[in-house]
Amino acid sequence: MAADRDYYEILGVPRTAGPEEIKRAYRKLARKLHPDVNPDDPESAERFKDLNEAYEVLRDDGKRQVYDRYGAEGLRGAGAGGGAYAQDFGGFSDLFEAFFGAGSHSDRRPGPVRGDDLRYDIELTLEEAATGVEKSIRVNRLASCESCGGSGAQPGTTPEACSTCRGSGQVRRQQNTILGSFATVTPCSVCGGEGTIIRHPCPRCSGQGRMRATEQVKVKVVPGVDTGMRMRVAEKGNSGPKGGMPGDLYIIFHIKPHERFHRQGETLRCEAPVGMAQAALGTRIKIETIWGEKELEIPAGTQHGEVFRIKGCGMPSVDGHGKGDLHVRASVVVPRDLTGEQREALLKFAELRGENLDDDRGFFEKLKDSIF
Ligand SMILES: [Zn+2]
Ligand SMILES: [Zn+2]
Repeated sequence: MAADRDYYEILGVPRTAGPEEIKRAYRKLARKLHPDVNPDDPESAERFKDLNEAYEVLRDDGKRQVYDRYGAEGLRGAGAGGGAYAQDFGGFSDLFEAFFGAGSHSDRRPGPVRGDDLRYDIELTLEEAATGVEKSIRVNRLASCESCGGSGAQPGTTPEACSTCRGSGQVRRQQNTILGSFATVTPCSVCGGEGTIIRHPCPRCSGQGRMRATEQVKVKVVPGVDTGMRMRVAEKGNSGPKGGMPGDLYIIFHIKPHERFHRQGETLRCEAPVGMAQAALGTRIKIETIWGEKELEIPAGTQHGEVFRIKGCGMPSVDGHGKGDLHVRASVVVPRDLTGEQREALLKFAELRGENLDDDRGFFEKLKDSIF
């Protein structure tokens, strides 16, 4: 399922790639993965499917923008909830390697590995989700070491090319067997496949090129976000070891339940108490919406549970296409605390309506009726 993978990585293009670059990358991979080229290869077929899914989105400017901000989930609208992504984080860079590294060793270039992506869960109130908000979050990440600039080598020194593999990161071995001779290519064990060796490790980061640090990251939340949507903050994941590109930070949104409003996509729902007489006679009531106070017309003869719509008082759409509606459910309230006078009035009302109140009479009255 391509939804769990990064579309840019599927296409093997940087996030800054222009339409031409994306098209070229697509054509190149499509030639390689096309089912006609790989008959009976389910893995290629699956990859070809993912490739098309990724290209469908990245070639379309509008879709690409939504994807950049909210990921595949954003394109699907609200839905699955945050859970679906929980297992797959950190998988992006692994996946990248599976595609371009481990799968075909000859393609693997020595050098720094991209850092892991990080996940950060953020809770918002419904009001914050409605209006959008700027949040400052503290992210604990592996940042590039300031002392060595991420190289892992002591300042003043540089990593040297590995002499065993001559900087290629790979060792090629010729094996002669009775079945013929085979060339095997394995990652160089001396440099760990990196092609370089650090003779004098940076004392600050012990040669890792990165260190744990807490960083303030500003997140601009766009109006309309819903639970499960995610947002990518480029290069705020872990830095790669020894000068590798940092991964990305993914912010996963969770909207707290609201005491009055229930959300369903762009639609908000709430209840409004309406008096018995108000429901029967009709009135206008005031509704505190998320966008301020609004008047709502309750027509004469409104039934309990009837729903009225206040246009444009729901949640905004994430792609800026207006707002949904607020659905107000009339909750007709039957009084429980009648005063003597109100009771009289209701009895009179019932009499005029011909409503039978037989059971309302006292025990002795009923007894009297049964005797005489
Ligand atoms: Zn360092
Ligand atoms: Zn080596």
